[in-house]
Amino acid sequence: MNLQKHIEHQLFRVISEVGKKHCKSSFVIGGFVRDIILKRPSKDVDIVVLGDGLEFAQLVAKELGVKKVSLFKTYGTAAFKYKDIEVEFVGARKESYTKQSRNPKVEQGTLADDQNRRDFTINALAISLNSSSYGEVLDPFNGLEDLKLKIIKTPLDPDITYSDDPLRMMRAIRFATQLGFKIEKNSLAAIKKNAERLKIVSTERILVELNKIILSDTPSRGFKLLFDTKLLHQFFPEMVELQGVETIDGNSHKDNFYHTLEVLDNISEHTDNLWLRWAAIMHDIAKPRTKRFNKKTGFTFHGHEEVGARMVYGLFKKLKLPLDHKMKYVQKLVRLHLRPIALVKGNVTDSAIRRLLCEAGDDIEDLMTLCNADITSKNEFKVQKYKSNFDKVRKKLKEVEEKDHVRNFQPPITGQEIIKTFNLEPSKIVGEIKHHIKEAILDGKIKNNYNDAYAYMFEVAKKLGVH
Ligand code: ATP
Ligand code: MG
Repeated sequence: MNLQKHIEHQLFRVISEVGKKHCKSSFVIGGFVRDIILKRPSKDVDIVVLGDGLEFAQLVAKELGVKKVSLFKTYGTAAFKYKDIEVEFVGARKESYTKQSRNPKVEQGTLADDQNRRDFTINALAISLNSSSYGEVLDPFNGLEDLKLKIIKTPLDPDITYSDDPLRMMRAIRFATQLGFKIEKNSLAAIKKNAERLKIVSTERILVELNKIILSDTPSRGFKLLFDTKLLHQFFPEMVELQGVETIDGNSHKDNFYHTLEVLDNISEHTDNLWLRWAAIMHDIAKPRTKRFNKKTGFTFHGHEEVGARMVYGLFKKLKLPLDHKMKYVQKLVRLHLRPIALVKGNVTDSAIRRLLCEAGDDIEDLMTLCNADITSKNEFKVQKYKSNFDKVRKKLKEVEEKDHVRNFQPPITGQEIIKTFNLEPSKIVGEIKHHIKEAILDGKIKNNYNDAYAYMFEVAKKLGVH
């Protein structure tokens, strides 16, 4: 196969010329080649050079007029950005591993050695940039065939490949999910066998792959594989605990693991926001620890939304997810995820709507998206009924917001004003007065404006014995 027409970009032509001038062979390798054939957009290019990759990268950069080259001497790689392309150079290498670490001992090698060290047959494809064979594909492991058959397979013995660098197990599942490929039987067996070795991989690296799985079109496929291979058990046991159905006296509850995956797939049809997808993953995370059985009511999970919200910080910390506003956002969505559905089921009062708007603030739309995705049932009639009620709640939210503007609600009377009016020291009572004014507005007792709130402030103060 010749892919010359895909490498007409000036970048590749210049690499080829520099190679010719300095008698160095070079090849495009890995993901970029795979993605050309799959017609997937790709903006990072890996170049392998027979010889010193650092030196070669600098020669190419000079020729292209690129000023800034990043050199990673410990890894023997160099990278720069040319136009909108990230290019990375590495000298062809041979690797050998020890049991304790996923960082190999490295020595210079041939192109074949370099292809041997690649994780999957579809990632070991190379395209020649040498002038005599420009554009020719070098495919020692039938990667082209595996691309056609949609198979993830390691070039060498999978047991050794995964044991050497256990991150590859996460990558196998990530590629299978992203590309809709199947993991070859022996590979899957080797992942199951080596699952515990994931312990030597840093959580940060695991999470890069996990987030790619979460951002794919059907993330449940990845999670099912992570569960079946027991990789999930290594870094996210709380999610594993969601799995299973218990039956007492003929009463069963649903399997919360598969339910969570259904919610995650549902939400993925409506949003590419990684954190909203994470909220879907965590929305029922506290169900195992809040599960109770009662003869009258069957299984209950009372308070799982609050307990779940409190688990979010610890889980984010353990999974090395950011502890900033993104964590707070997920926490808020987990805490509030039952509220819209309660409105759908019950009588919708303006007051309940105002409270929800006030607590959700600008995240109200995302909360509704989560809640809508959470409606899963085997009973299609029930789903339809819920969804149509849900639309009514949406409409009502809009009406109330237009009327009362409570979405980013701040009571119209400030603490300062209360202090001044009653000549108070800053103290607890100031907060109490403010709280009562806010509650009265949310309950609809008074309107959300300054004059009504001002008058009400005197009423409250009197009741609380402040004059
Ligand atoms: P994407 O860019 O979509 O993440 P990719 O396959 O390009 O996919 P990179 O992490 O950019 O992945 O790696 C580039 C290439 O380096 C891969 O195609 C593969 O050949 C090789 N590679 C990356 N990580 C490993 C690994 N852990 N073990 C073996 N080879 C790897
Ligand atoms: Mg890449």
